[in-house]
Amino acid sequence: MTQTRTVVRPLREDPAAKPLIITRLEAIPIAIPLGKPVTMAGVRIEKACNLIVRAEAAGGLTGWGEASVAPMMTGDLLSGMVEAVNDHLAPLVLGQDALRRAELALRCAHALHGNGGPKSAVDLALADLVGRHFGVSLAHLYGGPVRETMLPMYLLGNPKVEDDIAEAQKKIKEGFTFFKLKVGIKHPAEEAAAAVEIRRKIGADIALCADANMGMTFQNARLFVERARDAGLMFLEQPLRDDDFDGMAALARVSPIPLNGDESIGSVASILALHRAGAIQGANIKTIKMGGVGATVHAMSVCAALGLNINLACKVAESSIAAAGLVQLGSIAPNLNWGISVTNHYLAEDLCETPIRIEHGAIHRPRGPGLGVEVKESQVQRFRVK
Ligand SMILES: [Mg+2]
Repeated sequence: MTQTRTVVRPLREDPAAKPLIITRLEAIPIAIPLGKPVTMAGVRIEKACNLIVRAEAAGGLTGWGEASVAPMMTGDLLSGMVEAVNDHLAPLVLGQDALRRAELALRCAHALHGNGGPKSAVDLALADLVGRHFGVSLAHLYGGPVRETMLPMYLLGNPKVEDDIAEAQKKIKEGFTFFKLKVGIKHPAEEAAAAVEIRRKIGADIALCADANMGMTFQNARLFVERARDAGLMFLEQPLRDDDFDGMAALARVSPIPLNGDESIGSVASILALHRAGAIQGANIKTIKMGGVGATVHAMSVCAALGLNINLACKVAESSIAAAGLVQLGSIAPNLNWGISVTNHYLAEDLCETPIRIEHGAIHRPRGPGLGVEVKESQVQRFRVK
């Protein structure tokens, strides 16, 4: 009998043999003007207030993370996020081995209630650091990409439907194939009629969905889904208040349009609860809601196991640091059927050498180690607010 011999090639230098000690963790609050103001959940946003985290390892290697404020979603505010990092998370991370970031993320998760933004920014910075150390992308740290190209949604939110139609038609010429309508602002019958009209003008092959950002009552949502039946919406996102799981479940039972959860999804536990109630057919997943990169990967796997569609999104507006992290995650998502939303293009200026770009209606995963983008430190300092 012949025996096969396993050939073990010794690594010339094992990058995991020695710890990657974190020597600095800096929380940098920034404010960047938007290209044009955006209205979200009834609030007019003129500038993006984000936390940037810069992690440095012994030897000088750096990693970057980012999280937006999200008063109506995670409750995170800029000064609170800085304090969370400086006073609560940094002491758990400094002097520790970044190669054990899963354990560090768990410690951070347990150190503070909520605070998904700062936890996520720290975890993203450590993932960037570790990817750079190994010379592989964040996607490759999690098994490698299953797709290199993703379809971003283009947000339509003009006061007049004819402007939405004109904007959509212009963007379709540029290559966009996926649009999201902002609803929950005007009368639901008017918004439903607008959705049907937009569908009629853009044709059947373009993906269209709507996001109400909790702006509807049950009655309004019911009216909207009935009247918008012919708009062929892929989904309606978060029509009701974030804690109204029963209302969402009741709406899902009568709605011809699938429902997506966003503000109501703050953890894997809420995904499970909404799914159990029959309230959602998909989940909008943001790293700031899940509290980190690893937590987002976990949530995506749970959604896949439950047969839920996934939409990955940045908050309006995060720079190419967070966008790159999201695109890396999108490249490994098991079922990214409901698209991806990066938001760096809403900013008047970005923080990276080569910003994440939407080309011909598609986003390509940035190549290179870690997040795959190079941060311009001078830009970070320029927009620093404290
Ligand atoms: Mg949303």
